[in-house]
Amino acid sequence: MTTDNLDKPRVGFLWETLYGWHDTGSGGDEPSDPARGLQPVNRHFSAPGPKRRLNEIIQVSDLRQHLTHLQATPATEEQILRAHTKRHYDYIVSQSELPKGGDCGDGGSPFGHNALQIAQLSAGGAITAVNSVLDGEVDRAYALINPPGHHAERDRSLGFCLFNNSSVAVADALERPEVSKVAIIDWDVHHGNGTQDIWWEDPRVLTVSIHQDRNFPVDSGFIEERGAGEGLGANFNIPLPPGAGNEVYLAAIKESVIPALEEFQPDLIVVATGYDAAMMDPLGRMMVTTEGYREMTDLMIGAAKRLCAGKLVFIQEGGYCQYYVPFCGLATMESLTERSAGFDDAYASIVDGQIRTEITAEQREHLDRAREAYFSEASTGLGEVAS
Ligand SMILES: [Zn+2]
Repeated sequence: MTTDNLDKPRVGFLWETLYGWHDTGSGGDEPSDPARGLQPVNRHFSAPGPKRRLNEIIQVSDLRQHLTHLQATPATEEQILRAHTKRHYDYIVSQSELPKGGDCGDGGSPFGHNALQIAQLSAGGAITAVNSVLDGEVDRAYALINPPGHHAERDRSLGFCLFNNSSVAVADALERPEVSKVAIIDWDVHHGNGTQDIWWEDPRVLTVSIHQDRNFPVDSGFIEERGAGEGLGANFNIPLPPGAGNEVYLAAIKESVIPALEEFQPDLIVVATGYDAAMMDPLGRMMVTTEGYREMTDLMIGAAKRLCAGKLVFIQEGGYCQYYVPFCGLATMESLTERSAGFDDAYASIVDGQIRTEITAEQREHLDRAREAYFSEASTGLGEVAS
């Protein structure tokens, strides 16, 4: 080992070949259907390509030799049932057993025969990554898993997700005596409705979602959704208008997410990272660039160091641009490893000229309204618990 390694963090990285075998059929969103004029495109939005390509750019980069390569084991039924109902688990099992596979439940999220095996391995990869950090095997970890999870609610799933991987991993972590509170920061461009639902009444998990206002699901992710019962005040939605880029996301994290983390004092921070808030994504209308993801990750590292001995785990959610996802993920990994990957953003010439450094009045209004709704004294929920 060179002395160069002594002051660098140990970073775990996890990808399994089977994640690239998750079969989402040949439709664009819904299955192809000649009666409706829906042609097969041979590549569903949620086909594994962008994530497989992210793994491959990491494997050919200068980062590979510095990573601790983690190996996933499938999540057990018992582990999955800590975040989901038996009814939902059995639904996925029965759909997975169909000869040609099934659907998550919304009609737009097909999966192949025996997809259960890959879904268990995806949730299991999230558990492995969390354990690697909690056990001290590594300082930080990145679970590049597939299929994604954050739209999967306790009793149903939608939006390309089968099981809520980060929630399964967090529920598993909460079984450990040294873990009593966990924060999940979700910056996928879509609302983390599933994560919100699973922890809605649970004060042990702070769930934060920064997302494009009314993108998906269109009927959730509003600032008024703050949890209930003992969990009131432990759910924080930051919906942003289309067009928000690095400056808006960084402001949301500095002004809202980090103060919420400081108030909550987690034992572990999980980032549910999607790259569909990136400028080139087909399913979002945001403008984050590789530099944005790098700086957002830097901020999470700083918060984890201050609040929970650096314990930080990134868990993959969405990201649908074949071109740009690998570079966004690579920038995130450069931040986590504190090393250079040896590649510049190959699309900088396309995206950098579009970067805006000012925050518009509409964006400022969204940022302020979300922050005020969460932090206002009347809405903290603490008084209601006390009475
Ligand atoms: Zn998404």
